[in-house]
Amino acid sequence: MAGDKSKLKALSDIALLDISLEFDEILKNILKITCEALNAPSGTMMLINEDSGEPRMVASHGLPQDYPERVHEIAGFEAVKRSSGASGRVLKTGEYYLVPNILEEPGDKPRYDLSREPGFSSRIFMPIKKGLKVTGLLNVNLEDPRKFTEEEIDFLTIAASQASFAVHKARNYSRLEDKRFEASAKESETIYRELFENAEDPMYTLDIEGNFLTINNSGLRILGCTKEEVIGTHISKWLTPESLLKAQEALKRQVSGESIQHPVILEVICKNGEHRWGEIRTRHIEDGGMIIGVHGIARDVTEKKRMEQKLKEYHEKLMESEARYRDLFNNATDPMYTLDTEGCFREINNAGLRVLGGTLEETIGSNISKWLTPESLRIAQERLGRQFRHLPVPKTIVYELICKNGEHRWAEISTRAIKSGDKVIGIQGNARDVTEKRRLELQLKEYHEKLQKSYEDLIEADRMKTEFVSNISHELLTPMTSIKGFTELLYDEGRMNDEQKKSLEIILRNSDRLIKLIKDLLDVAALEKKKFGLNFEPVSMNDIISKSVQYVQPMAIGKQINMIQNVAPLSKIWGDEERLIQVMTNLITNAIKFTPEKGTITVCADETIEDIRISVADTGIGIPADKLCCIFDRFYQLDGSNSRKHGGIGLGLSICKSIVESHYGSIWAESEGKGSTFRIVLPRLGKEV
Ligand code: ADP
Repeated sequence: MAGDKSKLKALSDIALLDISLEFDEILKNILKITCEALNAPSGTMMLINEDSGEPRMVASHGLPQDYPERVHEIAGFEAVKRSSGASGRVLKTGEYYLVPNILEEPGDKPRYDLSREPGFSSRIFMPIKKGLKVTGLLNVNLEDPRKFTEEEIDFLTIAASQASFAVHKARNYSRLEDKRFEASAKESETIYRELFENAEDPMYTLDIEGNFLTINNSGLRILGCTKEEVIGTHISKWLTPESLLKAQEALKRQVSGESIQHPVILEVICKNGEHRWGEIRTRHIEDGGMIIGVHGIARDVTEKKRMEQKLKEYHEKLMESEARYRDLFNNATDPMYTLDTEGCFREINNAGLRVLGGTLEETIGSNISKWLTPESLRIAQERLGRQFRHLPVPKTIVYELICKNGEHRWAEISTRAIKSGDKVIGIQGNARDVTEKRRLELQLKEYHEKLQKSYEDLIEADRMKTEFVSNISHELLTPMTSIKGFTELLYDEGRMNDEQKKSLEIILRNSDRLIKLIKDLLDVAALEKKKFGLNFEPVSMNDIISKSVQYVQPMAIGKQINMIQNVAPLSKIWGDEERLIQVMTNLITNAIKFTPEKGTITVCADETIEDIRISVADTGIGIPADKLCCIFDRFYQLDGSNSRKHGGIGLGLSICKSIVESHYGSIWAESEGKGSTFRIVLPRLGKEV
């Protein structure tokens, strides 16, 4: 407050200057008062010559006597006029100009020496204006290199405008050549009033209640009122409730002599309802030691305030969308996180924490190495490295996590680089807990391995069985063959009675059946071992059919079966005669077996360009439709009891199928209620043989 008081006094001193003094003297005094109020060691004042428009240094304070001349010599006023220097800039723009450190000021070089001598380091150039026109310059120098405070600038602004007024008055005075004119108190008040009225910033005075005593034109412009509409009204009429409280509080303190924090920012309601903001500096007015009111200077900061407001709104919106993003992030069902360039967690959502089992404090800042198995860590580091180098990576990857409780879980991760400009500054990741899926996969793999193992065991057992069947069959075949041979010998010798002959015939028949059975078993074993050797040569199917029919004829006769052959002359084919006879006799034997006495069996054969087609049809018991395929399986028999009646172990058809397929042909059965038909198609292989 002491500083404020001295400045206020300085202002009134300037206003009350004796204008009867010499003009130069008046200017010097203004400069001196201003410098002293600011504790400035030196300063200068320039005025623009009204006729020539040239600036001229008219006063200096705290500087050597020849300073003005030396400035003239060094820089010349032409330089100032050309607006190269600081003062030139002020003349041009009409705004004050600050030089916080003259050594760093471009274009002021010639004056370094000049300033070093009187010892100043920073300066300000304040325009002296009449209306908008710059009529002079007030220059104040400080010892230290520093900026002038806002308050000092405020003071200088008013000082300059008072200087302008004083100069104006003094000029008028001298023009009237009435140098003995004495300034009366009344006139001095007029000066004040004019100063007050025409100041650029709004100014006003209030009584201790807060009623307007005065307000200047600038203040009225802001409020949009006439003087009559304001004078006498209470500040409550012009302030928002909140600002009113602030203003009343400040007024109360000032009236009771306490200090207040300046400036006070108030929201003003103008006459048209518009809201404007003012930055207010106030000081109390005393009269005879009594505080009788408050004097205020305002600065319109509406634009600044609006900008701040917009910024605030923008910031709030930003915060809102940030909050919305955070909410989405935190409550997403899938884990989400971000990593820094070191691979440490910067963010992680609740779902992520649930999977890892850690708290936010335990997780944020921790490195991924804490949460991954060594193998997954290796893959993750490689992936991060690629992403940081802008290289492509697979869309997703599965990591094995080690949770806080030591449990292992699996997560399918997709990541993207977070960029700032061209630089990757982090990684954002989305994860999906695939633990259950992974566990099922592992279980499935285990089952599969077990299955594979049992399959291999089975194959081995089957191989051993085949081996055994093959061995045992060979072992059986040799003695059987000799039994049959010696029985035939005995039979042929004919030295026995009829009963004995019958017994030998039974032995022979059963030997045949046993030998056929053993041979079938050997065939199956050979088939399984893929050792089913065929001797291919050109063969006639006509021969094969008639030999087969001949072979089974006695059996057919025994059952009084009518055997019909309907066979066209056929081309020779490439085949194994013995094996094809085996197929045909098998089919015809089956037909005889499953056909009641006096039935009919028809063997047909013809050929097309491509194939030879053979069929064996009977009028027997038939085969159910759903069993037509199964009968070609090994050991398959439709009816066990029937088979025991007819003999056989269900190998015949499977051997037939193998033989036909080895000839690149096909075999199948048809049966429609009554009787069965077995069909064979053998390729002619595209050429006559
Ligand atoms: P098996 O050597 O026991 O006769 P097959 O493999 O030759 O064995 O025949 C398998 C089964 O197919 C027979 O047990 C029988 O049930 C059925 N089958 C074969 N041929 C005929 C047919 N012509 N009529 C009815 N059923 C038949």
